[in-house]
Amino acid sequence: MFLSSEGYRESLRAMSPRVFVDGEQIDSVADAPMLAPGVNAVGLTYDFALEPAYRNLMVATQHTSGREVNRMLHLNRTPQDLINKLEAVRLLCREGGCVQRYLNHDGFNALYQVTHQMAADGDNEPHDRFVNYLHKVQGEDLTVGIAMTDGKGDRSLHPHQQWNADAYVHIKERRADGIVIRGAKAIVTGAPYMHEFLVMPCRNMNEADADYAVCCAVPADAEGITIAARPAGTPGKVAAKFSGRYGQSTGVVMFDDVFVPYERVFLDGPQGDQWRYSHHLTRTYATHHRHSCIGARAGFGDLLIGAGVLMSQANGLDVETTPHLRDRMVELIKTVEGFYACGVAASVYGFQDPSGVYQPDGVFANVGKLLLATQIYDMHRLAHEVSGGLIVTLPGPDEDHNPATAGDLSSMLQTREDVPHEKRMAVARLMEDLTASDEAGWYSVISLHGGGSPEAMKREIYRYYPIEDRVEVVKKLLDRNVLAEDGKDISRDRQPGRCCPVGCQVPETPELAFDPDAPTLIPSSQKPAAE
Ligand SMILES: Cc1cc2nc3c(=O)[nH]c(=O)nc-3n(C[C@H](O)[C@H](O)[C@H](O)COP(=O)(O)OP(=O)(O)OC[C@H]3O[C@@H](n4cnc5c(N)ncnc54)[C@H](O)[C@@H]3O)c2cc1C
Repeated sequence: MFLSSEGYRESLRAMSPRVFVDGEQIDSVADAPMLAPGVNAVGLTYDFALEPAYRNLMVATQHTSGREVNRMLHLNRTPQDLINKLEAVRLLCREGGCVQRYLNHDGFNALYQVTHQMAADGDNEPHDRFVNYLHKVQGEDLTVGIAMTDGKGDRSLHPHQQWNADAYVHIKERRADGIVIRGAKAIVTGAPYMHEFLVMPCRNMNEADADYAVCCAVPADAEGITIAARPAGTPGKVAAKFSGRYGQSTGVVMFDDVFVPYERVFLDGPQGDQWRYSHHLTRTYATHHRHSCIGARAGFGDLLIGAGVLMSQANGLDVETTPHLRDRMVELIKTVEGFYACGVAASVYGFQDPSGVYQPDGVFANVGKLLLATQIYDMHRLAHEVSGGLIVTLPGPDEDHNPATAGDLSSMLQTREDVPHEKRMAVARLMEDLTASDEAGWYSVISLHGGGSPEAMKREIYRYYPIEDRVEVVKKLLDRNVLAEDGKDISRDRQPGRCCPVGCQVPETPELAFDPDAPTLIPSSQKPAAE
């Protein structure tokens, strides 16, 4: 079943989650103005899947059921799947900023891989449970929030060392038919308007942390769940051209002794030492998610590039013929397409794990995410440079209709004869919203910390990178007397039996599957925006 955005809203109306926004309890999350930009943004993932032009990107066939499902709920099987997902996320995010649902995709891919590994190690139950759950979510076209980041308490301590046991969500009690969980997940995108939460561990757990190594699915309105959230985007602010329409709420999700039946429990730390899989789960999720983040921020970059050109034009300048403006726009394009290219490379150089899921390459996915995490600030600076100061100094929209000022403002501030003042103000306000507002700060911080802080990416790059291979390459050069003057091998720690970096095996070249029936993909960056 494919829902439309209206169907998604209707399905939310059938639920009754306990949600507070800015101190006010929300009766119907689908109808609350403070949450509307978030519901609109998630709604795009539904409507785009029904749009014939986007079908290739937004719809995929799930191999375990043979059914067509939304791309945001699909398990990747090929490099082409990864590229399609990356393109789909870019397409959605240049329309809606952040549309949440790719987190859902990332959690499902990782969990399928990890539970498959558990099955290979002799415990089939978690995998069977998860596949049933996956089919339910796909069949009902649900949206699942990723509840991974715990409150964490004192960062220098492990979960079991915290004085406050609720700093991390944990198994508090075990019953014959399920577990009872307790604790807080501190940052959950879209929390108020999710159908379900996928609770996942946010770090590697040791044996003493076994109760904290828990992964399970819980309906958002399960008894004992309270969500304290921020408004989505900037609802109701006329000047907020973008975030008044699309933007995400984030919520703290508190689990106050929530019962979860076993059929919804996928990782149960103390049972059969399942805590050992928490590292595999967090690491695999992080790789999928950082790959998705690349697509998301490229979509945001598309908005900045377009707005930068329009702002220059509204100011009476042609980017093409004004060398320094063209230079800044090329810088912006280089930045966006630079990290996006890492996403493409991560897709092409990914690998199929034993579960059959195609996972992005760890080095490229992490490098791309690390680039965007820090370069988001350069992207804002470049957009500011081409726009001028007006984007943060314009009088507010109330002045547009003030008989005492509107006429003079309109005539005195007009730049080009053919560009009405209102149009110039609209572009300036869009630029402010994207780059110099509360919402712009939100996009900076989600770019920097979403999917893990930069240090987490650096650690992963070091772990995944074949440094030993590079050492061997240089050692081989030394063997050929390139550097050694007297012909002696100056390397001291050659591994016994290794004559070359690959050990007498030619590395395989990754191949992209080619489907002659599918039309050639046009990168979303080169497609016209949706009406
Ligand atoms: C807008 C937004 C949306 C998000 N959406 C979601 C979501 O939907 N679901 C979800 O689960 N998460 C979500 N996140 C959370 C995101 O994954 C975390 O912000 C990220 O993992 C960093 O964790 P933190 O915020 O707790 O920062 P911290 O872990 O407190 O990091 C702050 C700094 O401390 C350092 N640090 C932390 N621990 C240690 C240590 N032990 N030793 C040394 N240095 C340390 C870090 O490297 C960093 O520099 C979202 C975040 C943002 C900003």
